[in-house]
Amino acid sequence: MKINEFRKHGHEVVDWMADYFTNIESFPVKSRVKPGEIFDLIEEHPPAEGEKFDDIMDDFNEKIIPGITHWQHPSFFAYFPATNSNPSVLAEMLTSALGAQCMMWVTSPAAAELEEKMMDWLKEMLRLPQEWSGVIQDTASTATLVATLTAREQKINGRVNTNGFPEGRFRIYASEQAHSSIDKAVRMAGFGSENLVKIETDEQFALIPYKLEEAIIHDKENGFVPVMVVGALGTTGSTAIDPIDEIGEIAQKYNLWYHIDAAHSGTALILEEFRDKFEKLHLADSFVFNPHKWMFTNFDCTAYYVKDKDALIETFTLTPEYLRTREESEVNNYKDWGIQLGRRFRALKLWFVIRSMGVEEIKERIRQHIELGHWFANEVAMHPQFELLAPVPLNTVCFRFNPGNMKEEELSAINDRIMHALNDSGNLYLTHTVLNGKFALRLVAGQTNVEKSHVEKAWEAIKIESVNQLSKR
Ligand SMILES: *Cc1c(COP(=O)(O)O)cnc(C)c1O
Repeated sequence: MKINEFRKHGHEVVDWMADYFTNIESFPVKSRVKPGEIFDLIEEHPPAEGEKFDDIMDDFNEKIIPGITHWQHPSFFAYFPATNSNPSVLAEMLTSALGAQCMMWVTSPAAAELEEKMMDWLKEMLRLPQEWSGVIQDTASTATLVATLTAREQKINGRVNTNGFPEGRFRIYASEQAHSSIDKAVRMAGFGSENLVKIETDEQFALIPYKLEEAIIHDKENGFVPVMVVGALGTTGSTAIDPIDEIGEIAQKYNLWYHIDAAHSGTALILEEFRDKFEKLHLADSFVFNPHKWMFTNFDCTAYYVKDKDALIETFTLTPEYLRTREESEVNNYKDWGIQLGRRFRALKLWFVIRSMGVEEIKERIRQHIELGHWFANEVAMHPQFELLAPVPLNTVCFRFNPGNMKEEELSAINDRIMHALNDSGNLYLTHTVLNGKFALRLVAGQTNVEKSHVEKAWEAIKIESVNQLSKR
């Protein structure tokens, strides 16, 4: 493609994006294609000769868009959102144009230094402890693996990196509501999934601190070595908030690495009224949250903080001769702060988003999403045929239709049918979880542009579909 064609098509593509954002509510939220449908639409073989851009765009519209689930649709209430925003999209375009591989300071000093500054900005916005150092990772899963590997090197006598595991069995603790990325990290770090101890939760689905302490004592008495505990600041199921301060005290008492997984809900720390609930975040050794979930920044962008930056770097640094640089001692070479060597320039989109929205607008949106969650929860709670299945500390509501006189199995089945019918309608998208063995519909009000009207419409649709499914029984 010649540069003049690039310019022309570039303008067209930006127009496409603006139209897409303008008309996004005309698309079904959840893609309706069947497995294999898109695969069969794509040419069997790559073209030998280059094709016209217009033809590629036509196929994009006809063959790709139907297979897209519209995460930026304001009636996307599924999973956790992966929000973007206009400034974030523009920054991603610039990032792709620069095409810089930001593994070291020298490979783009601006990327390294902007990343350091953006991590400082986020630290200030969330009032995280001053002494923490931040780095952008691709996902929370990677950050949690990084934390687990760092804990392994710090808390086990004799370096596992160089010598392999010494004799003994090493334990990691997390609540039974903890995210599966912790199970994955424990496996990948070589601890063995048998050594991930799941701690019981209370009626709020938050870890019970004395159960944690009991498990640690019991393990020590039986010759195990406790290494790390993970606290969830907002579980994935219901955004349950583990007792963050108390877990910190237990971690300190037994000398465990304390990792806080705040992947989705960490963004809410930007609000004073939420931040003030935590007095001892400084007891954590590492902390992760995802601006790519709930801070209007394109996937991927995960903010990872660590108290002891040297411990992190010691775990990962490995500099072959061809990567040695003059400035090593003065700068951050982020290849040493995690798993990958090659890194995208992710700080740019954060800079664009934070500057363009300003801290106040970000706060306002987050506050609004929480209010929408509470409004919806209140409607559910007041309705005689619906019930809440978990407390609603933030923007995530777990609930079900329960018209009475139904066995558990029947309740699960009808709620499952309600969910599929709603999602097939294309008008909204919500997902489910299981809490205390109960099938829960799960609505998250967190999409960038969600308004009260979208949540109201969702609630109307849910009520109508529930009655409809009941009558079909
Ligand atoms: C979403 C989520 C994760 C995983 O996030 P990725 O960035 O997709 O790896 C981890 N923990 C919690 C609590 C989450 O909600």
